[in-house]
Formats: sequence, C-alpha cells, structure tokens
Amino acid sequence: MNAGAISFGRQVLPRVDTYQSWGRYPRARAAWVSTPAWPDEVACALQRHELSLAYGLGRSYGDVCLNDRGHVVDMSGLDRIIRFDAETGWVHCESGVSFADLLDVIVPQGWFLPVTPGTKFVSVGGAIANDVHGKNHHCAGTFGCYVKAIELLRSDGKVRWCSREQNPELLSATIGGLGLTGIILSAEFQLRRISSAFIDVESIPFRGLPEFLALTAESEEAGFEYTVAWADCLARTPRGIFYRGNHSGEKDLDKKSFPGPGPKIRFPLPAFVLNPWTIKGLNAAYYWMKTLRPRKATVHYNSFFYPLDSVRQWNLIYGKHGFLQYQCVVPEENIEALERILRRTGESHQGSFLTVIKRFGQKRSPGLLSFPRPGITLTLDFPFRGEKTLQLLETFDRIMVDSGGALYAAKDARMGPGAFEASYPALDRFCRYLDPKLSSSFWRRVNAS
Ligand SMILES: Cc1cc2nc3c(=O)[nH]c(=O)nc-3n(C[C@H](O)[C@H](O)[C@H](O)COP(=O)(O)OP(=O)(O)OC[C@H]3O[C@@H](n4cnc5c(N)ncnc54)[C@H](O)[C@@H]3O)c2cc1C
Repeated sequence: MNAGAISFGRQVLPRVDTYQSWGRYPRARAAWVSTPAWPDEVACALQRHELSLAYGLGRSYGDVCLNDRGHVVDMSGLDRIIRFDAETGWVHCESGVSFADLLDVIVPQGWFLPVTPGTKFVSVGGAIANDVHGKNHHCAGTFGCYVKAIELLRSDGKVRWCSREQNPELLSATIGGLGLTGIILSAEFQLRRISSAFIDVESIPFRGLPEFLALTAESEEAGFEYTVAWADCLARTPRGIFYRGNHSGEKDLDKKSFPGPGPKIRFPLPAFVLNPWTIKGLNAAYYWMKTLRPRKATVHYNSFFYPLDSVRQWNLIYGKHGFLQYQCVVPEENIEALERILRRTGESHQGSFLTVIKRFGQKRSPGLLSFPRPGITLTLDFPFRGEKTLQLLETFDRIMVDSGGALYAAKDARMGPGAFEASYPALDRFCRYLDPKLSSSFWRRVNAS
C-alpha cells in the first residue's frame, strides 16, 4: 500500500494531514489512515500496520491524538448507539459516537451526561481514553467513574470485554490510557436524570485566589453541582468570575430551545490579532461585561457547558502557528504554586487568553493514568510563539513538579519524560497493559531518553 493510501470504509478519502489536534501544534502527517465503519474493519486495519493509534474527534489540544508517520484509525465511522434504555439511563454505544449526538437523543428523554468536558464535540472513545472531567468533578468525579464496561480490541485481533468483574485491571489501564492499551470498540455507561434542558446559574466576581477558594467552599457546602471560575490573570490583582449552577427543576426538555450552529472561523487569523494588548483588553472587557450583567440566570445547557462551541473552529484565532494549553493540578495546600504561575504569566506578556480554575474533589479517578486528583486545577492558553513560549511552560513544569502536582496529558504538546513520570505515579503498572502495536507522537516524546 502507498504511504497516504486509505484502507477501508467510507468513500470520501481524508488526506493524511487531516488528522491534527485542537491546538494545531505540533503538526503531524500520518503515513496511513483507515476509516472503518464496522468493528471487523478496525481489526483488519490493525493487522495491516505497525504503530497504530485511534483518533476520535481531535479535540485533544496536544499530541495524544497524533501519530506522526504512523497509522491513524479514524473512529468517527463507528457512530451507532446500540442500546439506550430511557427508563434506567443505561447506554451502550460505539466509541465513535459524539457527545453532541448523544445529547440530541438523551436530553429529550430526560437524561444528561454524567460528566462532560467544555466541548460536546468529543467521542465516547476519546472521553474514556483521556478520562475527561467537567465542572462537577468535586461531586461526580470523572467520566470513567460511569463506564461500566468496554469492548477492547487488541492488536492480536482478540476483543476483550472489560468490566469491574472481567479484566478489571485492563479496564483501569484503558480509562485514561491515551489509546495505548487497545482500541475501544464500544462502551456501556450510566447517564444522569434531568427534568430540564436548562441550568440555573449564578456568576459572582472575585479578586485573588483566597476569594476563589472561599467561594468554592461555600458553593460546595450549598450543594451546587457545577462550579468553575474564569480568571483574568493579566489584571494587577488576579480577578475573575465564579460560576455555579444546577440543573433547573422546571420541566422543560423541549428541543425548540436548542440554539443552532454559530459562526465559523474559516482561516487562521494573523498573529498580530492576539497580541499582549488585545489579550489584556479582551480579558478586561469580559470581566466588566460579566460584572455588569445580572448575577442569576437560567440558561440552556449549550450556553452553560459549551460556550466555546458556539464559534466553530475558534482554535484558528490563534493564528497559523497554533497554541498551547497548559493544565496542571496542585494539592490545595500548595496553591501558592498557582499564584506563582499566574504571576509569571502576567509578567511574560504572552497570554493567557482563557484562564480557568476549578477545585477537583476527593472522588478517586478509576484510570491508572487519569489526571484528576484532589487539588486545584489551573488551565491557561498561550499562542505559540516558538522558543519563548516553550521556555515559559518549562518554568511552570518545575513549579508544578516541586509542589507535588501533575500535568494533563490531553492538553500537553511538550512536557518531557521527567514531568510525565512525576505526574503519573502508576506509570509502571500502566505499562504492563500497553499494546505493542499502538503508539502516539505523545508517547514517543515522553518516552524519549
Ligand atoms: C473547547 C474544549 C474544551 C475542553 N474541555 C475539557 C474539560 O473541561 N475537561 C477535560 O477533561 N477535557 C477537556 N477538553 C479536552 C477533550 O475533552 C479531550 O481531549 C477528549 O478526550 C477529546 O476527545 P476526542 O474524541 O476528540 O479524542 P481525540 O482527541 O481524537 O483522542 C484523544 C485520545 O483518545 C484516544 N482514542 C480516541 N478514540 C479511541 C478509541 N475508540 N479507542 C481507544 N482510544 C481512543 C486517542 O488515541 C487519543 O489518545 C476540551 C477540549 C476542547 C477543544
């Protein structure tokens, strides 16, 4: 087969450089791409190639979903919901089903995802492989906590059924396992009951991390299911807006209230558009706009959970060199480490356009390589400006490692083996379950000696 040729599946053949990550850095070029539509086609594709990797919807920011010069298996063709029990909220679906498609089916029936990230354009397989978390981590844990069973295809051609009873260790390795233990063909998981498609939300301005912590404690005590804060770290004293919400009690599952698709950015904007001054100005404008608006509102779930999805391909605003997202977690007693990172971000004049802070709760993540753990998580975005951006993030790594923290692999495109090992203490146990024929650009980087 020629490099770049397509093995199976749908008629429209994707280009080998189609498969990039959301941050658009680093760029990758697959040697082969397969687009299976059925599970047996995935098995044939795995047999034919060395170094394969499943690709969901490419919403990982860095290179966990990239396989430069390897074989990429686009799982989006396995998009069937096999069973949905509207009485119990039990779902069995193929791994290429997106959260967006699931929501369209389950919300009108009074069900919601148990955990959702900040975009609905992720696949079930990708959500399991990164063991994603959401605004309810403090009370609900990660998506993996709700996965009851998966069907896992290994490169030996055998399909393993993994559940708490059967192959439980392989299940733990696969949840958060970055696609390296096998290809998830389908998964069973439990949904959460709702009576409305709307969320009652409060937005509260705050200044400084101590105020953020006080709001977090008060909101958790008061039983808010969703909490998260946006921060303007370029202001003299870091300030922000704290959001907390609950599913509305009013019965309203009507589809008519769903907003349609929003505008689309069609090409990378020139680098000067997001410069230190525009980033500072936009942050300040957002802060004041939110401060002036009413503090309480009832909004559709799309606006609350997925505000960024309203602009399609918003990642192109960072320009043709892409951007890096940095997400770490540190134990709450070492929150001073986050203050240092925020201070340095301000001093560096490099970003961040979008800064998010959230307290993770105590619920144990089920995956050997799951990122969430008790502590405070901070997320920052930086337009990629070459060496100076990489150097800045390396200084953050040192602060993060010294404070006993961890970096989120799903957002990473540059950490070295040292930071990876420090972040994931169960790494040796995980490696026992690696599939010898699977790999990724991320995995080769963090294992480079
Ligand atoms: C706007 C935005 C907001 C986000 N917010 C959050 C957030 O709040 N919390 C959070 O945790 N994450 C968040 N993310 C990250 C995103 O949720 C994860 O990266 C998610 O895993 C992406 O899913 P995907 O289907 O796009 O997978 P991809 O990015 O395509 O792949 C991710 C990993 O899953 C593996 N994989 C994919 N399919 C399979 C399969 N069938 N079998 C085995 N392995 C597979 C891939 O090999 C890769 O290692 C956000 C991303 C964006 C763009």
